[in-house]
Amino acid sequence: MSEIFSRTSPATGAALSDVEATPLDGIEAIVAKAREAQASWAALEVSKRVKAIMSVKRRILAKAEAIAKTVHDETGKPEVEALLGEVLASADVVGYWADTIADELEPFEAEIDALSYPKKSGLIHRDPRGTIAVIMPWNFPFALPLRTMIPALMAGNAIVFKPSEVTPRTGKVVAELFDGLVPAGLVGVVQGGGDAGARLCGAEVDLVVFTGSPASGRKVAHACADRLVPCTLELGGKDAAIVLADADLDRAANGIVWGAMMNAGQNCGAVERVYAEKSIAKALTDKVVAATRALRTTDDVGPLTTSAQRDTVVRHVEAARTAGAVVHVGGEPIDDEKSKLGYRPTVLTIDADENPVIADETFGPVLPITSVADADEAVRRANASRYGLTASVWTKDLRNGEALAKKLRAGVITINNHSFTGALPSAPWGGVGETGWGITGSPLALDHLTRPRFVCVDRNRASREMWWYPYTDTLKQIALAFARLRGGASLGGRIGALFTLIGLLPKRMGELKAASKGAAAKTSSK
Ligand code: NAD
Repeated sequence: MSEIFSRTSPATGAALSDVEATPLDGIEAIVAKAREAQASWAALEVSKRVKAIMSVKRRILAKAEAIAKTVHDETGKPEVEALLGEVLASADVVGYWADTIADELEPFEAEIDALSYPKKSGLIHRDPRGTIAVIMPWNFPFALPLRTMIPALMAGNAIVFKPSEVTPRTGKVVAELFDGLVPAGLVGVVQGGGDAGARLCGAEVDLVVFTGSPASGRKVAHACADRLVPCTLELGGKDAAIVLADADLDRAANGIVWGAMMNAGQNCGAVERVYAEKSIAKALTDKVVAATRALRTTDDVGPLTTSAQRDTVVRHVEAARTAGAVVHVGGEPIDDEKSKLGYRPTVLTIDADENPVIADETFGPVLPITSVADADEAVRRANASRYGLTASVWTKDLRNGEALAKKLRAGVITINNHSFTGALPSAPWGGVGETGWGITGSPLALDHLTRPRFVCVDRNRASREMWWYPYTDTLKQIALAFARLRGGASLGGRIGALFTLIGLLPKRMGELKAASKGAAAKTSSK
């Protein structure tokens, strides 16, 4: 077993099975095999590809609990959470794309002005990118890769998938879902760490779909820039929840605690900051603290997945304490016999946006609450982050909630809930700023996973188009008149343009005829 892979479960401390790292020198061959398989896969009708991949859903449901157990063993997250948030959500992803992708890939007609461009029509097709590298993190090791792999494969692409070195066993389970359903080599797997990911980005892939930290995302973007291939980046988050004075405080407290502590806070869309209006800040904090105290270690909140992650949590909470934060509950590691990676779910109050616990991604079970004067201050402080993945507004006034949603700098905004839409295959997931520019979920994901191919057919039999040679003043006047007719002029201007065309079109026809005659004469005199 390679040194880079974790050997023991953060959940139980038990030894994990051996995993073989892919030799770095073997990565190009895996990509080449995927490329080879892709051509015939893309040539299949989409219905055939969908039928093949649809069986993945049956496989997921048949092995749902075993898959959840593998995810639990590798990450430490509760099995129920793995089942709901990763396994069953992925079955929904397969179903969604099976139902919708054929329509989404249907060619559609481009609008072409028949007056200016007579007898022409054009269809926009969506072609697969080719071979896509899918490089993934460890926090949702089953759901995240499938969110991209399912639509990418149905759209006719090949995949080379590199799971995180922290969750290689779940990665293997993901890849095995496709065994025997798709041509050999179409879904390749690279097991390894950052060096393997870097090598994959440098191989002959046509797109890199990357989810992970901003630091690695930057390296991926540089590597793709060097090869002039596109990449999509889904990076970190520092989600804010804004609680207004009129919110249902019980719902807000319970929802925010779930949003913050789910997956022990190791969620790019976790609530990592709360801005609460002053009049309810204390009442909200009391409810949040009570709901946090009620959480059961292991059953509700597992350990951190890696020791590096727990070190970050310890560092952020200590920085908050130093800045005068009040820790209401938690604030210390759990050192039990088995794993040594637990951290008590923590709620603190703080007013220091430059502090690491507010400014940087904590990725742990830590919920800082800040009291603000009003919604405007809450929005201003929420938007001051360099991240912008999701945000939530808690209020009974839905119209006001939607108005605030317009002002928030984030890719996903939920009103009276938080970040659960990551499980909805029909909803786009992505962000702004250092969160990157990737989009998974919804038909918009296909804008990355496919490229447009425009085919224009011309049924015009004339020997010359109006705008071909010779260039003359008549052509110039006609072009200006057409532009005005297409909407760039007042009613009077358009009527004038019509008269210009009536007057000049016969003249232009004559010019074109004469030019064709002249050319023909030159041809025959040769
Ligand atoms: P990471 O960046 O350390 O690793 C992610 C993946 O990139 C791993 O497979 C790793 O081996 C690989 N990698 C590392 N260096 C690379 C390089 N130079 N070239 C190519 N690949 C390389 O991230 P992580 O610790 O696994 O994941 C946690 C991060 O992921 C957090 O910041 C979290 O917010 C983010 N995340 C974002 C989303 C989202 O949708 N925006 C979802 C989940 C996680």
